[in-house]
Amino acid sequence: MPINAFAERLLDWHDRAGRKDLPWQQGVTPYRVWVSEVMLQQTQVATVIPYFERFMARYPGLTQLASAALPEVLSLWAGLGYYARARNLHRAAVELHASGATELPTSFDELLALPGIGRSTAAAILALSRGERHAILDGNVKRVLARHRGIAGWPGESAVATRLWDAAETFTPEHRVAAYTQAMMDLGAMVCSRSRPRCEDCPVASDCIARLDGRIADLPALRPRKPLPERSCWVLLLEDDQGRVWLEERPPVGIWGGLNSLPEYPTGTALEAACEAMSAVTGSTLPAIEHVFTHFRLRLTPVTARITTARIMEPQQGLWYKPGEAADRPALPAPIARLLDGLAQTTPTEGRTP
Ligand code: SF4
Repeated sequence: MPINAFAERLLDWHDRAGRKDLPWQQGVTPYRVWVSEVMLQQTQVATVIPYFERFMARYPGLTQLASAALPEVLSLWAGLGYYARARNLHRAAVELHASGATELPTSFDELLALPGIGRSTAAAILALSRGERHAILDGNVKRVLARHRGIAGWPGESAVATRLWDAAETFTPEHRVAAYTQAMMDLGAMVCSRSRPRCEDCPVASDCIARLDGRIADLPALRPRKPLPERSCWVLLLEDDQGRVWLEERPPVGIWGGLNSLPEYPTGTALEAACEAMSAVTGSTLPAIEHVFTHFRLRLTPVTARITTARIMEPQQGLWYKPGEAADRPALPAPIARLLDGLAQTTPTEGRTP
């Protein structure tokens, strides 16, 4: 089948201007592509590179990842955010290892059955590592195709997603699939950016419907806004006499599953009762923090407290962490990490402790 005109222009551009020296483009294996694709979800290339290199140094293959303890994997992920990605990566490796596998499967359906691997990620793994013809549709590609094909509507709606997948399938060539897949990703990241696309440098500008119709700023459409329900809770900033803060490991499922966080209570009264039970003296109530999840807003009210006795917390339930210490920093939810970083920069005279 002759290569289509869209793919041809894109491949020419990629040969001239595409990225070819990213760490996951060297020594390409399905495992390396998988890890990079998962890290790149919602995260930019420049941020991912050092994380990818550290991850590969520690877990060069599936067996090493499957043998690792989850907290260790999460702590290597600390700062990259969206920890569900790391939990799924680890769970998939453990499942595969338990079934006797030492490599990532190379069948599309088997990949799709693994935790955290959707249609586009499975396609990217096989296209980039094996040159198999599979269309991808990650966030960058959705933007390019919505604009180039003039596809209106929010890509999260199934009718819109179907049109985008159809376009992705149509444009994916039979040959040079790995280069084409990388080229689509690069075009979305380097040229067809959300706020300032560089259409003058775009190889497919001549028939881009959004450009011709003046609709670039409207495509792809944003998710329709609905007011999110709000939940609230109180979190305890319990300090010992060395300025360390008590963190507890959250249950493996649910929000921030498996991460370390501050002890959480449904009400301020429950928090105070817990402090009383452990002979801790409560101090200030700090300004509330708001964190937005996909389906709700969480309002966290931090309350400081100090342990006044030599009470020893149960080490199997948590750990003491000195805010600001970079070494062995545990995996923390982003808003808690920001709160602790802020505390580390606060001097005692600013009155945060009782
Ligand atoms: S012409 Fe502009 S809007 Fe259209 S695909 Fe290229 S960069 Fe994106």
